[in-house]
Amino acid sequence: MANINCSELLINASESISYVSDMDTYEILYLNKHAMELLGLNSPDDYQGSTCYRILQGLDSPCPFCTNAHLKENEIYRWEHFNGSVNTWFDVSDTMVCVDNRRLRIEIARDISVRKGNFSSISHRSSVEDILSLCLKTLTRTKDTDAAFRILLEAIGIYYRANRVYIFEFNLENWTLSNTFEWCRPGISQEKDNLQNLPLNLVDYWVNRFETDGEFCINSLEGEVDPDSESYEILKRQNIDSLMAAPLVHNDLIIGFLGVDDPRKNIGHFTLLRSMSEFILIELEKRRLLTELEYLSYTDVLTGLKNRHYYARILQEYELHPPTVLGIVFVNVNGIKNINDTYGYKRGDYVLQRTAQILSDHIPGVCFRSGGDEFVALCEDISQNDFQQAVSNLRSAYDSDDDCSAAIGCVWQSGEINVSEQIHNADELMYAEKQMYYSHVLHEGHSSLRTGAADQVLQEIEDGDFTVYYQPQVELESGRIIGAEALVRKISKDSQLISPNNFIPFYEVEGVIRYVDLFVLENACICLQEWRKLGHILHMSVNFSRITLMEPGIVESIRDICSRYHVPTSFITIEVTESISKIDSGHLQQLVRDLMDAGFSISLDDFGSYYSNLAILSALDFDEIKFDKTLIQDLETNPKSRTVLQNSIRMCQDLPSAHSIAEGIETSHQLELLKEFHCERGQGYFFSKPLPRDEFTLLIRHNHHGM
Ligand code: C2E
Ligand code: MG
Ligand code: MG
Repeated sequence: MANINCSELLINASESISYVSDMDTYEILYLNKHAMELLGLNSPDDYQGSTCYRILQGLDSPCPFCTNAHLKENEIYRWEHFNGSVNTWFDVSDTMVCVDNRRLRIEIARDISVRKGNFSSISHRSSVEDILSLCLKTLTRTKDTDAAFRILLEAIGIYYRANRVYIFEFNLENWTLSNTFEWCRPGISQEKDNLQNLPLNLVDYWVNRFETDGEFCINSLEGEVDPDSESYEILKRQNIDSLMAAPLVHNDLIIGFLGVDDPRKNIGHFTLLRSMSEFILIELEKRRLLTELEYLSYTDVLTGLKNRHYYARILQEYELHPPTVLGIVFVNVNGIKNINDTYGYKRGDYVLQRTAQILSDHIPGVCFRSGGDEFVALCEDISQNDFQQAVSNLRSAYDSDDDCSAAIGCVWQSGEINVSEQIHNADELMYAEKQMYYSHVLHEGHSSLRTGAADQVLQEIEDGDFTVYYQPQVELESGRIIGAEALVRKISKDSQLISPNNFIPFYEVEGVIRYVDLFVLENACICLQEWRKLGHILHMSVNFSRITLMEPGIVESIRDICSRYHVPTSFITIEVTESISKIDSGHLQQLVRDLMDAGFSISLDDFGSYYSNLAILSALDFDEIKFDKTLIQDLETNPKSRTVLQNSIRMCQDLPSAHSIAEGIETSHQLELLKEFHCERGQGYFFSKPLPRDEFTLLIRHNHHGM
């Protein structure tokens, strides 16, 4: 034991208790001076040849809480332990060392009874009043009710030197009882989890005794409890021989009880138990009120769903710990304003309640009322199939319900989830569907159901508040105008032109951007028809919001407009921005396929602005890549921009059938550089600003005749 002797001086000099034992035989090899003093041993002869469990814990077999299995060489295993035989709390550090092929356990323990509070010294206190006043003080300072219960039960356990102290609560609604709190002396196994939702009649014996005697004491199971009774069997199974119990009575009703198993001290003295049950009743009531308060503060009173505060809380939690699978459903009630205005708020409330009910009936997740007429459901741990099935059932339920109609947006994702982005996507999909509702309502002529935003934009279109400008697109090599981009403008009350950047986002969130986009398309078709009559065969680029493109049946609507004006679809290029990749990938692939099958070209607008997502180029086939003006404007001054652009154009040439076009060309130098890079097409103030239709007609006449 040379190694151990080396550290002996050090160990004895500290205030700690330490010992060394053989991990395989439990033989105790060494105890330091403080440990011997604490255990009342005079010399090493008093422990040598004996085991650690016998000397330290007074047990006949290894301690049930032995930490040997956790120990590793060069690692410290730290834990806290109450040693009942010396009535002291210890902060314990264990480690394993190997000496001469023996695995040795070294334990160093520090007395932390003072830090653990005054309860460890409870058994030394003679007066119950002392303990009660200590508990009361602790309770008033402890906000956490669970911690409060632990402290109370521990105090009871130590006072009675019991093995276990516990609270059972009755649930009188379903006639069951559960063990809700317990304290166990170290070494005594926890039983709480095995004692949940038991039938209440199991404790008939207890209830009878509470009713006749108030609290009661069983000094010995054998002889005092009928061996054929269930109570006997339960106690026997847990090796309980004696116990004390006091009822918890609220409004003259027994709502549970407080029990002490195998007390070894103060047996039959009920003063403490009785007073403690009063404290416990107060804590239980406090907990009930807190639960109720929490329920109320997170519940939407009208629908019973979780409210927006709770929704915000969950989103905050997701930011820290995003789920690995998440299905999101957004639901927006159609026409609630109209219902309120026409039929009154009572009816409106009913529709909201019904919408909430249908949502929670069909979606297996947490449902929230996130706004006035908006609902969200978040489903974790759900397969994509189950989620889609649930949403499809939800749609059918809303469709077949006479009282409410709703727009739904849903997304499902697994893996690394950016929750706020997914929420945004679901929200947008819901808006896209909302547009369908508006168009349906307007198409069907239910003028009474018209909704504010759609009404407003249609009125503006009717009043001529929008106009379309056309900017030429030029074949760079020949300088010939080959097409135009249609760009919308709004005319303010004082006849100023408002840039689309200032109003398009507003129409997007209102779910009415489709009207603007289709209005522009219609005007563009009228122009193409007119120019063709004048002998100018041009193609037309039209910008489409992704919200419009998410609308089911949109390809059909675009094609209908073209055929109304006899414009072949091959003359129309649909401009989309990178943000289109936010559409669910399956849906996006289908959309692009449908547009291409219908004969439209697709251009990726603003490529190279902000951050560019190259993945979109490999995921989808574009007919045209439109380089953003920020790349062009940098060309003359920034050699790096030149490299980036030149290589991007080269990449474009390598992509199947993608033409290159540069926008924002303002100078002849930029034009020369672009030609040098073999960029095919261009657009910009150098050629022309966007023009009203008539001016554009003059321009092409001039351009085409001048060729
Ligand atoms: P965009 O599709 O990238 O359109 C090009 C924008 O650059 C236009 O601004 C155009 O006037 C401007 N531009 C053209 N050449 C030059 C140039 O040489 N220098 C500079 N500095 N700017 C130039 P505009 O018309 O204000 O449109 C802004 C954006 O609004 C468009 O960007 C497009 O995203 C959107 N937008 C326009 N019309 C529609 C529409 O009908 N529907 C939808 N959804 N969006 C539209
Ligand atoms: Mg554009
Ligand atoms: Mg652009």
